[in-house]
Amino acid sequence: MTHPAEEINVDFITLEDLSDTTIKDHKMEGLFIFTDGSKTEEKVGAAMTCWKNGREVYCQKFCLASYCTVFQSEMYALYQATKYACNSGVSKINIFSDSRTSLEVLKKPGHTNPLAFATKSNLKIFALKGGEVRIFWKRSHIGVQRNERADLAKQAEKHTTDALDYDKYPIAYLKSTIRQDSAKVWNTRYRDGGTAAITKLFFPDMIQSHRLIRELKLCPLQVQMVTGHGGFAHYLYKFKRKTSPGCICDPEINETIVHLLVECPRYGKARFELEQRIGVRIEKELLSSIIAKKEISHEFIKYGVKIVKDALQRNKSR
Ligand SMILES: [Zn+2]
Repeated sequence: MTHPAEEINVDFITLEDLSDTTIKDHKMEGLFIFTDGSKTEEKVGAAMTCWKNGREVYCQKFCLASYCTVFQSEMYALYQATKYACNSGVSKINIFSDSRTSLEVLKKPGHTNPLAFATKSNLKIFALKGGEVRIFWKRSHIGVQRNERADLAKQAEKHTTDALDYDKYPIAYLKSTIRQDSAKVWNTRYRDGGTAAITKLFFPDMIQSHRLIRELKLCPLQVQMVTGHGGFAHYLYKFKRKTSPGCICDPEINETIVHLLVECPRYGKARFELEQRIGVRIEKELLSSIIAKKEISHEFIKYGVKIVKDALQRNKSR
């Protein structure tokens, strides 16, 4: 991690339009990079388009995992734009985003968002090379020629390449899954509702869950473990990212996180050893009590994260 004192200051300029006058007033020169991110139903996309002297010189689209947020897609586009800037050989670059939230996050010193951090690192590299980047916030769909492709992220959503460009799991998703509803109705809905089935195995109770999730400070891989939303064949299959939902041990059995944790023979040895260490059997019905016991949850989570990592690696391709 960069020391905060070495962190680069990021600021942005607000634009009302992108007319020739505005461009002149702001003395915009060099490369113009427009970024965009969007999310519809189960598809998330990001895109960037680069313009020089009124002509598009480069364009790239990215496909993000379905559980990524709009914010992540916008931030990912900014990350890619700054990465492109570093390698462009151009010294003056103007980056445009219509995501005020992303720009505010970039502006805020010491923010721990991984994409913001990576974006700032790119900006720092570019500055060290002697480059000058200016970032502009423009409200979406300012009607100018350069912005005609502002919706290109929507096209990116549609393309279904094998590998996802970005799949860091947003912790906010887990939190919102757990506290979707007001406290009054939450427990009943959560307990009896049809959603978040896997999460409920780990966190069956509302009050306990809030406290636990705060204490556990789950990393993205751990979040995949307790939600089942991750690189598991059954989950990926649902989003057409995998041709079969089956596990390697038996194609008739869905490769879900629960299967991998409690029954898949591939982890039989690791599971047995863990059971010996913690003195509890790894069973579906016991997952919530295991995760709630501080003395043993650590060991269990380590075992789970290994499985999540393996699955991500294994299911990279279809
Ligand atoms: Zn299996």
